[in-house]
Amino acid sequence: MSAVSALTPGLDALRAGFLARRHELFIAGKWRPAQSGQTFEVIDPSTGTPLAHAAAGEAADIDAAVKAARAALDSGPWSKLAHAERAKLIFKLADAVERNADELALIETLDGGNPLRSTRNVDLQMAIDSLRYNAGWATKLTGQTALSSPQSRSFTFTLREPIGVVGAITPWNAPFLMAVNKIGPALAAGCTVVLKPAELAPLSALRLAQLIEEIELPPGVVNVVTGYGNTAGQALVDHPDVNKISFTGSTRVGKSIVTGSAAHMKRVTLELGGKSPVVVFPDADIEAATQAISRTIFFKTGQFCMAGTRLFAHEKVFDRIASGFEGLAAKVKIGPGIAPDTEMGPIISAKQLDRVLGYIAAGARDGAEIVTGGKRIERDGYFVQPTLLANVRPDMSVFQDEIFGPVLCATPFTDAKELDRLAQYANDTSYGLAANIWTRDVGNAIGLARRIKAGNITINGGAREQSMPLGGFKQSGIGREGGREGVEAYTELKIVSVGL
Ligand code: NDP
Repeated sequence: MSAVSALTPGLDALRAGFLARRHELFIAGKWRPAQSGQTFEVIDPSTGTPLAHAAAGEAADIDAAVKAARAALDSGPWSKLAHAERAKLIFKLADAVERNADELALIETLDGGNPLRSTRNVDLQMAIDSLRYNAGWATKLTGQTALSSPQSRSFTFTLREPIGVVGAITPWNAPFLMAVNKIGPALAAGCTVVLKPAELAPLSALRLAQLIEEIELPPGVVNVVTGYGNTAGQALVDHPDVNKISFTGSTRVGKSIVTGSAAHMKRVTLELGGKSPVVVFPDADIEAATQAISRTIFFKTGQFCMAGTRLFAHEKVFDRIASGFEGLAAKVKIGPGIAPDTEMGPIISAKQLDRVLGYIAAGARDGAEIVTGGKRIERDGYFVQPTLLANVRPDMSVFQDEIFGPVLCATPFTDAKELDRLAQYANDTSYGLAANIWTRDVGNAIGLARRIKAGNITINGGAREQSMPLGGFKQSGIGREGGREGVEAYTELKIVSVGL
């Protein structure tokens, strides 16, 4: 037994049990290999060694999954369930996830690299809450009755109907939560789902499929097809019988999904990248701001779409924040996610690590100063130092592009009264997912919040609530996930007019 195994309850059992099994596709309530017989390796990013093998589903497997989802939607027991029964099944799934949360968090940590304490306390807890929140909507999605004048000779109302078969395509940075955030509202609305998880972290979706089987969700309601994006993912986007694609991932792939979906006019919800600004005024609680800015960079090793990665701090407080970040970066415990004291894990893959290091090098070449970090950590796996780049300008790639690593790009500003100029800086990228403002001046806080083009703005560390819709302006996405808007996005609205 290794030292880490001894300290991590359940790890040896997981290796001997779930991880050792042959991972197949979950289609129509049954497990089956990919029709091609192909598999791919799933790598542990903290060691660079194989963790498991998963089936490499392709177009034929996607077609089988879509057929199963269509049959479940049109004629299976799912289509006849009362809304309350549907809600009960989603609550049951939440209970099953809760009962198995420790194991799921361990799978998520091994596969994605993030610290166990954050996969268990953040990802899994949010996933359980999300399922329960969305289960409630199954009994509350109703249409409206139109206002009509006394003279009107018709009576008009709307019906909210399931949008149909949903193709859910998820990324590797929070794979379990992202899968649940799509499956929960889709089921609440009465849809059926084909899930294609990211090839870099597909295992927790397969464990979720086991739980779906265990709670006896009717066959075909949720299908899981692991495989590559450009084969399985693309086949889902191209399939004529899929009604909607719900995607979280890069803006590049998001654009190809819009193009692919146009052929059959599929509905799309896209949660894409971000390059979110953090604006710190001189009157802010600098200690709290520094802690929060640093935490968001260490969280998921910066592989987090909402991370505040562009710091604009007033010149009077810039150095204090920079040295605060440097101090916290020196102390943050970096290591494999399963080690109990780890606070920051590895980057997901060798390719992503090269990408992050490439951006840091480009920033330095373009004139940014590496205040701290900037280097790969020499050990097994894909580790990089938390990094602060100063003197970053809008013409640099590190200012414009989503790096998806623990890299904070910082720029000082001089005039706290120039809200228009500050907003111009904050808005000067193609993204518009989130923004963070730190000030005790309500006028500055709200004035800037109104000017910034982003879907999620926090002031002084405010947290987003489950009941609120999340999504991006500009190239950060289309539509919203979460809240009423999130679940309504899995419905079609129909108007019915009755002549009187
Ligand atoms: P991708 O956008 O490529 O991957 C997201 C999902 O889309 C995966 O399941 C992927 O499959 C799938 N996919 C890839 N190509 C296609 C396609 N043609 N049709 C349908 N589905 C497809 O992200 P990457 O893994 O390449 O990460 C690259 C960058 O994207 C990151 O550095 C980061 O900047 C950004 N990103 C943003 C995320 C966010 O939450 N906003 C999440 C993940 C990445 P497969 O894994 O098999 O390729």
